[in-house]
Amino acid sequence: MPYAMDHDLAAAWLRTTAAAVERHEQELTALDAAIGDGDHGSNLRRGFTAVTALLDGLAPDTPPGALLTRAGTTLISKVGGAAGPLYGSALRAAGAALPEPAADLTELAAALRAGLDQVRKLGGAVVGEKTMVDAFEPAVAALERAAFDGFTLREAGALAAEAAEAGARATVPLEARKGRASYLGPRSVGHQDPGATSTALLFRALADSTAP
Ligand code: ADP
Ligand code: MG
Repeated sequence: MPYAMDHDLAAAWLRTTAAAVERHEQELTALDAAIGDGDHGSNLRRGFTAVTALLDGLAPDTPPGALLTRAGTTLISKVGGAAGPLYGSALRAAGAALPEPAADLTELAAALRAGLDQVRKLGGAVVGEKTMVDAFEPAVAALERAAFDGFTLREAGALAAEAAEAGARATVPLEARKGRASYLGPRSVGHQDPGATSTALLFRALADSTAP
């Protein structure tokens, strides 16, 4: 099997995400202070600190699917607000869809599509409503295209990260239709969505975790 999502890559992905969330905590909180309640950075930091502790205690032969599932459960239990349960449910759905002991790029893309479907089912958001879906959807679509085109996991990760970052930037001119920011109506325009921004961090962390 070609290089794939196995235990080591899943663990590296979540640890790299935790480090990125820590580095960007203030930025995420500032974005959320502008159009929400200013807790997105601290929410995610608390959640990913708990995920790091979980990883420290996991056996090295834990399959990647079980690893993502348990990380998702941890996020749901540790993080209040909208984003924690949405990310947690996404990781649980993705984990349940990952084959053992490792997933190739096509299988990884399908698992993350299952994660996105869960976010959309729980939160009801579609692209264009200024939520994490605006970064998540193009990132998954980029992975699917890259798998179809026969790209490596590393190339696919980079394309997904770029797509997520572009999706996050594209939330700036949008009016929020879901979540707390939607209470602001037109006053939500002109700010980047915090959840789309953290989703871009997640996909950049995936890209950074793939070996050359
Ligand atoms: P809260 O809004 O409860 O304070 P957070 O600040 O942690 O939770 O997360 C806010 C982010 O959650 C938003 O920027 C948005 O991306 C995401 N979000 C909120 N509601 C939804 C939803 N219904 N569907 C998808 N994402 C959502
Ligand atoms: Mg908030």
